[in-house]
Amino acid sequence: VPHWAAGFFRVGEDGQLEVTPDGNGGPSASLYEIVSDLRDEGRPLPVMLRFPQILEARVVELNEAFAKAIRKYGYKGEYRGLFPVKVNQRRMVVETVAKAGKPYAHGLEAGSKAELALILAQDTHKEALIACNGFKDDDFIRLALMGKKLGKNVVITLEKFAELGRVMRLAAELGVEPQIGIRYKLKAKGSGQWADSGGESAKFGFTTVEIIKAVEMLAGAGMLGSIAMLHSHIGSQVTDIRRIKQAVREIAQTYVQLRKLGAPVRYLNLGGGLAVDYDGSKTAFYASSNYSLGEYAEDLVYVTQEVCEAHNEPHPHLVTESGRAVTAYHSVLVLEVVDTIRPPGEESVELSKDAHPIVKDMYDLTKSISAKNYREVYHDAFSDKDTLQNLYDLGLVSLRDRANAESLFYQIARKTLKLALELDYPADELEDLQKLLADKLVCNFSIFQSLPDSWAIKQMFPIVPLNRLDERPTREATLVDITCDSDGKFDRFIDLHDVRNTLPVHEIRPKEPYYLGVFLTGAYQDVLGNSHNLFGRIGEAHVTVDEEGYDIERFIMGEKARRVIEKMGYEEGELAESVEKLVRSSKLTPAEKGSFMEQYARELVGYTYLED
Ligand code: PLP
Repeated sequence: VPHWAAGFFRVGEDGQLEVTPDGNGGPSASLYEIVSDLRDEGRPLPVMLRFPQILEARVVELNEAFAKAIRKYGYKGEYRGLFPVKVNQRRMVVETVAKAGKPYAHGLEAGSKAELALILAQDTHKEALIACNGFKDDDFIRLALMGKKLGKNVVITLEKFAELGRVMRLAAELGVEPQIGIRYKLKAKGSGQWADSGGESAKFGFTTVEIIKAVEMLAGAGMLGSIAMLHSHIGSQVTDIRRIKQAVREIAQTYVQLRKLGAPVRYLNLGGGLAVDYDGSKTAFYASSNYSLGEYAEDLVYVTQEVCEAHNEPHPHLVTESGRAVTAYHSVLVLEVVDTIRPPGEESVELSKDAHPIVKDMYDLTKSISAKNYREVYHDAFSDKDTLQNLYDLGLVSLRDRANAESLFYQIARKTLKLALELDYPADELEDLQKLLADKLVCNFSIFQSLPDSWAIKQMFPIVPLNRLDERPTREATLVDITCDSDGKFDRFIDLHDVRNTLPVHEIRPKEPYYLGVFLTGAYQDVLGNSHNLFGRIGEAHVTVDEEGYDIERFIMGEKARRVIEKMGYEEGELAESVEKLVRSSKLTPAEKGSFMEQYARELVGYTYLED
């Protein structure tokens, strides 16, 4: 936990996982208790716990890291962070970031008209930037220009050359002097999953040829003064600090060159990419990051300063559009294990006299397996199982023989794994065996709704039971969700030195809830989630913690079934009418009719997840 938690989570002395929202050893609360309280209030699971104080702490940490680096190097510009709302547009997130960022003039970034519409209404500092990225039509540009006219510090970031003419025309039409940002296509690439967002083949950005053309076009119209920002982005989750330094050098050189061409650029924007160390390994592995926030800030400040001073150009205000690093920590997805699927092999097998000879052979193998022969025995058992399966397909083996063979095979596999682990001499098949023999914990949630990145791009998240952490786990498990989709599973778990195929978990006790927390889920997951199988948005609790304890400030109900169904084009009234017709024409008794219609109506306003 301490490796990935960045000070926000820890294991308490009673074996319960605790949140410390200030990230700095301040007041803490048990997540298990929070969830138990929610259950007592009758709130259903799954639930998302959101901690606004963690968001605030991250905004402050980011700004303070830059302030410290700026002081350290005597840098003359300021840091003007931007929060890209696409990372999480939830009202609570945007409003909290805007409020915590106000003293630092931390701004907001829009990638679409709708995002700009919500950003313009936020209470941000007068000097805070509002950046408009993404492809733009006339209405998007008009909205941005009017925002400037209304006194907001709006910069229109041009993603492609064709947008320049449009901005010039509309600015003249509305009588606004625009602030233009130019997105530069860096040669430098990031590292990790999003490396292709940078580099010459990137989707967005101006080539050097287009930058020169833009400068000439604006100079020709007497508008060179409107170039306010140079922007770049080498991809999210850049795991290797060397890639970042390389990118900063290139963009800083381009800033200097633009200034030499007469463009009065004031803001140098390195985009997103500040990574989150999901597995705590502090490496350049795709789910990690080999640098700290402090190092990131120092490198940006230092490299920019060095380049500017070599060319005698002023230090620009430094901008980053850090989204993942600001939001990831603030939310915890809480799942309840509702069932366990165990592979066979824990039951004893009694063979009858007329059992198939291959099954008898397998039985003997279970008795003869030892440290000396376990590989050979396992291979024999594997081939026996295959042969038996073929014979079964030909109708030559009974269902009982087949079942006994399956049990015996799993018994041998378990012994093989145990011996290999004890001998610390893992067989090549060990990895497969661990997966094969793992329990499957059925968790009441949908991966597609709550953790889409885990399905789509194999993103890893730390997953931890919320209690019993002072008790050695005795089982290994993978997790499955309740969608009717075999992709709805987790079988990759974080590890400091490797990737695990199974998660160590406790033996689940009857009638005692077992909650798993999925951490660092605050970035991108909320907005990318979808309603596969019509599992809707889950409920969320906003929780604050102080010296007195914790307070569930707000609970937002998850989507009701009817909302999710209506999104697919159905009308609740029509559905109820059709079902009523069906009931009327049926042979149900009047009491059955009444009770069924009642149940149907209840279902439409119920939670879409398992509720027993
Ligand atoms: N800025 C731009 C232009 C982006 O495309 C992105 C995301 O990819 C971000 C900022 C946010 O990046 P991150 O979440 O890595 O901070």
